[in-house]
Amino acid sequence: MTGKIVILTGAGLSAESGLGTFRDKDGIWTQHSLEDVATPEGFARDPALVHGFYNARRVQAAKASPNAAHHALARLQQEWKAPVVIVTQNVDGLHEAAGAEVVHMHGRLAGALCHRCAHRWDAPPEMSPDDPCPACRQPATRPDVVWFGEVPYHMEAIVAHLSDSDLFVAIGTSGQVYPAAGFVAEAAQAGAETLEINLERTDISGAFEAHRLGPASEVVPAWVESLLPRDG
Ligand code: NAD
Ligand code: ZN
Repeated sequence: MTGKIVILTGAGLSAESGLGTFRDKDGIWTQHSLEDVATPEGFARDPALVHGFYNARRVQAAKASPNAAHHALARLQQEWKAPVVIVTQNVDGLHEAAGAEVVHMHGRLAGALCHRCAHRWDAPPEMSPDDPCPACRQPATRPDVVWFGEVPYHMEAIVAHLSDSDLFVAIGTSGQVYPAAGFVAEAAQAGAETLEINLERTDISGAFEAHRLGPASEVVPAWVESLLPRDG
């Protein structure tokens, strides 16, 4: 394989950096219902609760460091002779912290968005429903993250990348959240090889030709080593 690689990453990639996935028992995501903290309706009902939830996520993400898997993907992107497009569902900034360039299909904790005028700016560490938008001055600020029921960002570009990919790899994602869960089918349709890297098999493992099972911090660097010549 020497061609273009498209990589989709999910919460499992950041699990070993101390950021919980949806499925972690006792994890932060299980202390609130997704309907309350990750939907436009939940935000309309109780914006203070939702801001509080994302403020806590933002603090936690700011303290976290990229792990060996984030570093290996950044190295692959820098050294591979063909394009390596990394699309992430993660809203933490750990890919960038490792030096990679990524497409944030679910937005970023570090971003703020005005739901009246669509202005975007850097989120302060603490956001509140009373904060005025810097552009229109309305108290209409929200985290720039994509909630359930909203359309992910950059879909047109992502679909175009999938359609001319030679290898599609999904890492640490459960395959339960669409449209990302459908990317493997689109890539396969376009003739790409497909590889799933996860701690365990997922609901959509059957859609992938190849699998590497284990913790991302071990499996991803080993996979990257298999593609790139060793240093020195
Ligand atoms: P998910 O929680 O549904 O699934 C996580 C997957 O990672 C599971 O399949 C699990 O088996 C696997 N996994 C867990 N630990 C792993 C490890 N150490 N190595 C390899 N794989 C591991 O997450 P998802 O599929 O990304 O769900 C998408 C939604 O989760 C997105 O909307 C995203 O915004 C949100 N989310 C993001 C973060 C973050 O930014 N770090 C954290 C939690 C949830
Ligand atoms: Zn505004």
